Amino acid sequence: MQQARELENKKNKSAKARFYRKRVKIFNVINKIKLWPSRSGRLHGVRSIEVVGEMGKITTHCNKEFLVRDSRNSRAGRWLRNKWYFKACPDCRIPDWKIEKYGSTRFRRHQGSLLMDSAPESEEKD
Ligand SMILES: [Zn+2]
Repeated sequence: MQQARELENKKNKSAKARFYRKRVKIFNVINKIKLWPSRSGRLHGVRSIEVVGEMGKITTHCNKEFLVRDSRNSRAGRWLRNKWYFKACPDCRIPDWKIEKYGSTRFRRHQGSLLMDSAPESEEKD
């Protein structure tokens, strides 16, 4: 019985949109979705992110490095929330499911995961 329910949860999870708080730290979001929309509108896959104070160094799969300030109103934050990008980076080879997941990620003002370090994946319901 327990097992059946877990299986059901898993199924629901894959199809369900994820919700994050709008004011969540951008590095936590990037760390979770592992995607980075560069200024030129290219969507990169994130290999690693190193946070030092207010700055984060993002390394993409195509070996580019971006130094980013953690600002909730930054261009990147806005782009991530609105899921804007022009073209997926061909060198990063982002799998389709990841881009789909990106497309189903929602940001809300008062609902969703705050992505604290120990917080589990969002389970919020409407
Ligand atoms: Zn790339």
